Amino acid sequence: MHELSIAQSLIDAVLDKTAGRAVMGVNLRIGPLSGVLPDALRFCFDVASAGTTLAGARLLIDEPQARGHCRECGTDFAMTDMFLLCPCGSADVAVVSGRELNLVSVEVA
Ligand SMILES: [Zn+2]
Repeated sequence: MHELSIAQSLIDAVLDKTAGRAVMGVNLRIGPLSGVLPDALRFCFDVASAGTTLAGARLLIDEPQARGHCRECGTDFAMTDMFLLCPCGSADVAVVSGRELNLVSVEVA
């Protein structure tokens, strides 16, 4: 479960930015192709933030749709699963978005 190490780095980054102020909420953007499971990350965040200024903070996760671009037919399309196939059947697809794992903003008290 690599979500625990991700949660830990996230918490370290937020602690660094907030310098001891109580954190009410953390906003993230996680693409569906990032390999990170939002529910698992929420659980790990709760566990790893206990005893820090982030304890009890709300974790809001925005999950944008993944998009691909087909080099074969030039179509841009929404990717709905891990199979990176264009509707035309080509597998020569560039991932345009969907691999994001971003800390968007932090709400402090
Ligand atoms: Zn195509």
